[in-house]
Amino acid sequence: MSGVRAVKGTHDILPDEIGPWHRVEDAARRLFGRYGYREIRTPVFEETQLFARGIGAETDIVSKEMYTFDDRDGSSLTLRPEATAGIVRSVIENNLMNTDPAPRVYAIGPMFRRERPQKGRYRQFHQVDAEAFGATAPSIDVEVIELALGFLEACGVAEFELVMNSVGDAKCRPAYVETLRAALRANLGKLSADSQRRTETNPLRVLDSKAPEEQELIAALPRIGDHLCAECRDHFAEVCRQLDLLGVRYRLDHRLVRGLDYYVKTTFEVTSGALGAQNSVLGGGRYDGLVKELGGPDVPGIGFAVGIERLVLAMPAAEPTARCDVYLAVLAPEGRDRALVVQRALRQAGLAVLMDHEGHGLKSQMKRADKLRARVAVLLGADELARGVWTVRNMAASSQEAVEDARLVEHLKEKLNG
Ligand code: ATP
Ligand code: MG
Repeated sequence: MSGVRAVKGTHDILPDEIGPWHRVEDAARRLFGRYGYREIRTPVFEETQLFARGIGAETDIVSKEMYTFDDRDGSSLTLRPEATAGIVRSVIENNLMNTDPAPRVYAIGPMFRRERPQKGRYRQFHQVDAEAFGATAPSIDVEVIELALGFLEACGVAEFELVMNSVGDAKCRPAYVETLRAALRANLGKLSADSQRRTETNPLRVLDSKAPEEQELIAALPRIGDHLCAECRDHFAEVCRQLDLLGVRYRLDHRLVRGLDYYVKTTFEVTSGALGAQNSVLGGGRYDGLVKELGGPDVPGIGFAVGIERLVLAMPAAEPTARCDVYLAVLAPEGRDRALVVQRALRQAGLAVLMDHEGHGLKSQMKRADKLRARVAVLLGADELARGVWTVRNMAASSQEAVEDARLVEHLKEKLNG
């Protein structure tokens, strides 16, 4: 076992780092509940074909980022690279569209993609994901976006930008993709190898390219906004109008195509300046054909996913929290039994208590109480034992008082609870 380390691209979330994760999860549960979303937990692995069919075989995720393995019976399984496909599978399998009058769910958990690890990009990362089924109205797009932004705000992220686009649908996008492909083919010599390949496999992805030498060319390519059918154009105009109505600010970006094939109409992303190169904290959009594609009824859907690692990076640093309310310092061995009884009573009263079990000296115990950010240290030495009292030391004020043994638990409850 010596020298075993975490797998490349994975990371531990240590006890000292867990505070913002809890804040994120608490904010999700509180806020999503207000919008009628309930939690769903689906398996972290699924049949490979779910993702191939759902996300699209030509996407980066499916073609090179999935952790796929053969099970012992020969079936092909994949660690989920995103949450939507599994949720849609579950919604279909459990018939939630017909049994739940408001089929809206959220999920929190790990995702797996074999990408090149760097700051804000990992092979196991975590997402908060929200999905709403059964609604086509633009006001649902707006509500989902409002929820996404409200969630970031609830996590304390102040600085972010909402970027919006419409990627059309099955009626208008195919013709646009061909127009785009033709324009790209006419400029093939000026494209990177990646973009040349994507010209054939998935031309929309070229719009996503960050290669500096292609930017000028890409800026001059045909834009999806000029090729939307009337339905998609009206839908997007109404989404934007309602965002304006609610005072939600956004930037339109015709190059926002997102990496998953299932998106139609509204797509959006939120970036944060606090993040550096991997600046996208959240992505989402409408996926009206996906439920049907995966074998369910023709039910529309829309959702988003927030990367928790990136969200935490964008959040303000949290004050370190206290490990205990009370630190019991037993300085005389004869006091230990009484301390054990007091410790139990205090915990039953709802207080967090730690004590020294090893008989350390006063100085070392006070140091520990300090490091644990105890609110009070309660000392029981030979002198206190003789007088039938405890010394209660207020750590912040460095003041102390003697409290009768029989009144100690009541005293601390009054002082520290509420
Ligand atoms: P990126 O721009 O980083 O490639 P993406 O478009 O692949 O993101 P989505 O698949 O839409 O991202 O996932 C939504 C969110 O999940 C992202 O905005 C990001 O916060 C987070 N995310 C995606 N991939 C990773 C990863 N490898 N490591 C950490 N977070 C990630
Ligand atoms: Mg990606």
